[in-house]
Amino acid sequence: STDSSDEVTKSRLAAEAQKKYGNPPPTIFSKIINKTIPADIIYEDTAKNKSLAFRDVNPQGPVHFLVIPKTLIPRISLVADDDTELLGHLLVVASKVAKKEGLTKGYRLVINDGPLGAQSVYHLHIHVIGGRQMGWPPG
Ligand code: 5GP
Repeated sequence: STDSSDEVTKSRLAAEAQKKYGNPPPTIFSKIINKTIPADIIYEDTAKNKSLAFRDVNPQGPVHFLVIPKTLIPRISLVADDDTELLGHLLVVASKVAKKEGLTKGYRLVINDGPLGAQSVYHLHIHVIGGRQMGWPPG
């Protein structure tokens, strides 16, 4: 897009990520944020412009979506005190979208971190999985 506000947003997000986390490589989720690849987006935080929710391409339940910050935080183990508000916001978005998706009987939130956590995309994301009975412990 050539819309100047999009360009401003892109450069702001890149500058924030660079300053805080060094220079993390963008992932496929940056392309979803920038709308350069398609995704089934079910929530976009237009007021605060901080978060996005979209359906997982490989769903692990009848409902499976991801909530991500627009700024590139690579993984949960790298967050700092000044991410507190953003992280809280992501949980509120997860809860609201779960409700909108009809998950009235419960659901599972998951954040995978690093190799042992089986993280595959290094752009922080909260999995929201529902619509079936979950087991415990998780695999
Ligand atoms: P992780 O293993 O990093 O916690 O989860 C990454 C998730 O992103 C996986 O569940 C995977 O199916 C999903 N994913 C990876 N690439 C894409 C994509 O291009 N589009 C969508 N919608 N989901 C993706």
